[in-house]
Amino acid sequence: MKSGKQRRREIKTARLLRATKAQRALDQYLPLGFRPTEAITVNPALLASYNSYGEPLFLARGWYQDQPFRCVDCDKDEVWTAAQQQWWYEVVQGSVYAHAVRCRPCRLIRRLAGRAQPTI
Ligand SMILES: [Zn+2]
Repeated sequence: MKSGKQRRREIKTARLLRATKAQRALDQYLPLGFRPTEAITVNPALLASYNSYGEPLFLARGWYQDQPFRCVDCDKDEVWTAAQQQWWYEVVQGSVYAHAVRCRPCRLIRRLAGRAQPTI
């Protein structure tokens, strides 16, 4: 018969093994496993509340990093910087599932157009 001490050691080893496997799975899932120089650490306490679609990718990763995207209006290649993401998610508490889709000039045009002729 095994002693309590042996049993506890077995449980601890199994737990450690599971945690390592989970970390490896997460590393594979994430597009970049290393932290880039421009990265800014996420402060989860400042984020807008969420629960419907689960944990957003940047939160699982633990930092914001520059994110390239193509503007949906003018097709220009742009970068949504780590600092802009932090501002969006933590300062103005924007949706954790939203991300940049338009360049700055196109956002301005849209905003001005919206003021000139309100949509339904
Ligand atoms: Zn644009």
